[in-house]
Amino acid sequence: MAVSSTPARSPRRARGEGQWALGHREPLNANERAKKDDNPLNVRARIENIYAHGGFASIDPADLRGRFRWWGLYTQRKAGIDGGRTAVLEPHELEDEYFMLRVRVDGGQLSLEQLRVIADISQEFGRDSADITDRQNIQLHWIRVEDVPEIWRRLEAVGLQTTEACGDCPRVVLGSPVAGVSADEVLDATPAVDAIVERFVGDREFSNLPRKFKSSVSWLADMPYEINDISFIGVDHPDYGPGFDLWVGGGLSTNPMLAKRLGVWVPLDEVPDVWVGVVSVFRDYGYRRLRHRARLKFLVADWGVEKFREVLEKEYLGRSLVDGPAPALPDKPIDHIGVHRQRDGRYYVGAAPVVGRVSGSQLNQLADVARAHGSGRVSLTPYQKLLVLDVPEERTEALVTALRGIGLEARPSTWRRSTMACTGIEYCKLAIVETKARGQELVARLEERLGDIDADITININGCPNACARTQTADIGLKGQLVMGPDGRQVEGFQVHLGGGLGMAQGQEGGFGRKLRGLKTTADELPVYVERLARRYLDGRTGPDEAFA
Ligand code: SF4
Repeated sequence: MAVSSTPARSPRRARGEGQWALGHREPLNANERAKKDDNPLNVRARIENIYAHGGFASIDPADLRGRFRWWGLYTQRKAGIDGGRTAVLEPHELEDEYFMLRVRVDGGQLSLEQLRVIADISQEFGRDSADITDRQNIQLHWIRVEDVPEIWRRLEAVGLQTTEACGDCPRVVLGSPVAGVSADEVLDATPAVDAIVERFVGDREFSNLPRKFKSSVSWLADMPYEINDISFIGVDHPDYGPGFDLWVGGGLSTNPMLAKRLGVWVPLDEVPDVWVGVVSVFRDYGYRRLRHRARLKFLVADWGVEKFREVLEKEYLGRSLVDGPAPALPDKPIDHIGVHRQRDGRYYVGAAPVVGRVSGSQLNQLADVARAHGSGRVSLTPYQKLLVLDVPEERTEALVTALRGIGLEARPSTWRRSTMACTGIEYCKLAIVETKARGQELVARLEERLGDIDADITININGCPNACARTQTADIGLKGQLVMGPDGRQVEGFQVHLGGGLGMAQGQEGGFGRKLRGLKTTADELPVYVERLARRYLDGRTGPDEAFA
């Protein structure tokens, strides 16, 4: 046999990373194939015309487990399947005939009419379930495909939508929950949020991205800006005035990376054009070959910010961007809990459910309470909390009391204020561990045993390594996995990450918690474990200003 002297090309080099702009369109992984076979937005017509009439059994599996997500629909996990079987069962064995439905609330603001529509849908179609997510969405459960067209009709009648709430597309655009009212805000970013949503959400040019694309636009750094694909944060330019600093390439999951500043200043009216430039770079140059390398962060990490900026300017914007200064960033998250004066002299009141769990009936009560205290709107935060806006000063204390009466606490303990939990095993097919009930139990236990404390200790509880509730950015980040129980059998538990935090990326030092091999706890022992950690910190600190990290 003749031996070639030409070195074999590695399969990876031959196929590239699946970047469209470099001509790498084949071969396709299953996700890319499904998107190529049919634009996922087309599934809406099939839901309305076929599946809503034929029921769950009539749904094409490629739509069910793929394209449905572009309309905010995920199949719900079947009850009673333990986390040990998540990885071994087939998708159809894990899923129930019901859906989780994510309602996007771009910018986080809801009129009371919109709030009531969501609440009524929850009560009528979703067994009264509702969660405020850590991306300003409201997620409903127990939804039947038969009811989806009517739910869309009701949502869209009040300007809400589920379009591209999930899937490989532009997800909800985060905005400050106090945009337009904050005394600290110089420029209200709402027009840019609205323009991005109106122009580009549901646009087929951007409905097949390599993976999800997470955005935020806010003057205040009251967003998890370091972990979005794109973030615009307010900054005052010495020559040009107020505008926005641009960050790209953040993301968590199993390869966490902090977003990087491009060093440019963008005026408010140019934010949508720059946003679409960045999303276009991602669409064309993003890695599609391997799903786990398909987020924008991998491209930014490989290219570096100089090349990314150059490609954005030359190939997509056709002009140079203005160099800009770094914004002043807070050293800890701004969650807006409590009573705060607005710049118009009225007040907003931020209140905490426990780990984002609410209900349709509670949201209807919230609308009643807000209305009775002079407010016409609420907003959601990316910390699973909510605000009642525009309250006259003389009504604020009565509002705090009324909110408490419906299970929303405007003066919460540190534990309630600083604990978040993802969906977890109750509904999520990827989960290994239960999260929401454990989070509620943990908060109750810490309040009982430690009372309130004069320190912030953030606790983020996640049901698997996907980090939807931001495992790596909490003082105590919990990643759900199986661990060895006391009797030597595997049980639900958590890998513990310590000392992470948002608001710590200034200077790109990195704010991710450290994962230490031995730091694990069973889920049953979690309350005792966290209490012990908290006591050790409280006993050992030199004063209240010493951070947990
Ligand atoms: Fe589901 Fe895992 Fe995300 Fe939690 S972190 S919602 S368990 S995918």
